[in-house]
Amino acid sequence: MRIVVAGAAGFVGSHMCDRLLAEGHSVVALDNFLTGDAANLAHLRDHTRFQFVEQDITLPFAIEGAVDSVLNMASPASPKDYLEYPIETLDVGSVGTRRMLQLALEKGARFLVTSTSECYGDPLVHPQVETYWGNVNPVGPRSCYDESKRFAEAMTMAYHRKHGVRTNIARIFNTYGPRMKLNDGRVVPAFLDQALRGEAMTVFGSGVQTRSFCYVSDLVDGLYRLMQSEERYPVNLGNPREMTILEFAEHIRVVTGSKSEIIFQELPEDDPKQRKPDITKARALLGWEPRVALDEGLRETVAYFRGKIPDASA
Ligand code: UDP
Repeated sequence: MRIVVAGAAGFVGSHMCDRLLAEGHSVVALDNFLTGDAANLAHLRDHTRFQFVEQDITLPFAIEGAVDSVLNMASPASPKDYLEYPIETLDVGSVGTRRMLQLALEKGARFLVTSTSECYGDPLVHPQVETYWGNVNPVGPRSCYDESKRFAEAMTMAYHRKHGVRTNIARIFNTYGPRMKLNDGRVVPAFLDQALRGEAMTVFGSGVQTRSFCYVSDLVDGLYRLMQSEERYPVNLGNPREMTILEFAEHIRVVTGSKSEIIFQELPEDDPKQRKPDITKARALLGWEPRVALDEGLRETVAYFRGKIPDASA
């Protein structure tokens, strides 16, 4: 297949490109480097089945030749990034998604959009099932991301219902692994950076809020299975192993062998109190579940971050 990947220079996008090429597909990769990093694709520069186009997908563009599948993975994704680029975030989820859907329609291609567990907002149903409509603040600081992705899901369903495009919607939960941006503010790079430098680890609030972390290769496998399925409604992809942020900080200290102290800072506004995917649907539909244990995934991630932090002490 010839597959267009938008957001290809991002953390998940770049791993997806690797997987698609390994499966024998051709990839046309798009990114405007707003939050993506060319270094994530540098190893693919000379690959015969890989083509890169620097492109902001909110602007008009054309792709020459046949396209079998379109993956729309373009968006700022960390709270720090989307707070810095709220308008770009809303634009890429709305205008950008529309353009990618139109491309899929014109090429007769399949379409997959990577949505988010943020669609559930600060969830009142736990664990989160796909049929839960969420508890989203439409005007809070995270709304630019939440509503952008909710719009992207709605537009995707509209193209399916109106035009019969073969669409898929993935709701991605917290994911970690090599190629995460060191300074994107998310808890995995933040804690690893602090632990490896021997600096204080900043737990927000009292650290009782929960998250569930999925290793990137597991997520990519779920996405690859989903893009071949005929399921039109959202499918959760994430690891159901839930822990508090304080437990997670302690875990990182052990894995890195760090002596960093843990300090408590103010909890950001609208920070979800709990998050854990119900993956019953993905298990049944895709025969998928995460395989990489947290310690194993963290070891790979720590090795990557050590290479990025020359003065890592731990
Ligand atoms: N967090 C933290 N310290 C940090 C960064 C994040 O305690 O230095 C917390 C944050 O408040 C949230 C969780 O870790 O409860 C996950 O945050 P992240 O930004 O990774 O993603 P989110 O799941 O909130 O989108």
